[in-house]
Amino acid sequence: MEEELVGIKNAAISFILECNSLEELEEVKLQFLGRSGKLTQAIKNIATVPLERRPEVGMLANEIKNIIEDTIEQKYQTLKSEHYKKRKSAIDVTKPGIKPEIGHIHPITHTILETIDIFKSIGFQVADGPEIETDYYNFEALNIPKDHPSRDTQQTLYLDTRESKVEPGEVILRTQTSNMQGRILEKMKPPMRVIVPGKVYRYEQTDASHGFEFWQLEGFAVDKNITMSDLFGTIDYFIKKFYGEDIKVKFVCHNFPFVEPGAEAYITCAVCKGKGCTFCKRSGWVEMLGAGMIHPNVLKTAKIDPNIWQGFAFGTGFSRMATLKYQMDDLRLLTNPDLRILEQF
Ligand SMILES: [Zn+2]
Repeated sequence: MEEELVGIKNAAISFILECNSLEELEEVKLQFLGRSGKLTQAIKNIATVPLERRPEVGMLANEIKNIIEDTIEQKYQTLKSEHYKKRKSAIDVTKPGIKPEIGHIHPITHTILETIDIFKSIGFQVADGPEIETDYYNFEALNIPKDHPSRDTQQTLYLDTRESKVEPGEVILRTQTSNMQGRILEKMKPPMRVIVPGKVYRYEQTDASHGFEFWQLEGFAVDKNITMSDLFGTIDYFIKKFYGEDIKVKFVCHNFPFVEPGAEAYITCAVCKGKGCTFCKRSGWVEMLGAGMIHPNVLKTAKIDPNIWQGFAFGTGFSRMATLKYQMDDLRLLTNPDLRILEQF
């Protein structure tokens, strides 16, 4: 038994000393000290040695185990420092470093910031509000009762409220930034001029001109003696500042429940400058905004007397504004993480 143990020790030490890498050393360690390693097995066999000789053989086995472990540790330190030295000499400190990629503002953010600047310059305040909204502020406060047919055009995402006290269908992801109109009209005293840029959500299939989450701009002004011509002037000023002085704006009648009268604004196609192209379907015009005079019911709901105060409101999509400005034919490109597209801006 003693001879076997000494044999194992000698073999282990010569193997350890021959190791040239940390991986090899790890293998030798397993071969001798692992669960089925040679020394481990030999130690198990001590049980077969006659009782009176066992303490002596046990002590020898322990001593050998310590010697093997110490030798492994010494070899480990030597190999490690050699490995480090090799790596150090491989680094050329005079080489220039790798330049980190620097990002820039996303075209949608750029559109939002430019819009804010233009409206701020004509006295509008900027407001922000919740994206998780109640049915009341998203629809009812805007003169859109529960059974109103215009709700069909705004496919709504409802939040699961089964675990709460809220009635089902009362909490939604806002479908329009107009939700802030009711909230602000309630809180602020007129006169006021406010824009609300923000993200909205619809339960819609995405295609070249529809997204299920997109950015909207809501704007409104309430004051005494406000008329449609104030609305036309404001929109015309904004469009010319944003797209250029040569862009014309035209208004056509349209019905929205929260305005009376209501209008849609079309602008000269910025791609063909009105000559007609595939972007504007050969018409030379692109639909840009919904607008109108705030419906007296909306003012009454917010406890503002429509006989004293009037207002106009308008809304548009930032994705639409950006796609026309940058002449993109698919708004999905704006949310595409492909850097080959984003780096062009
Ligand atoms: Zn065109």
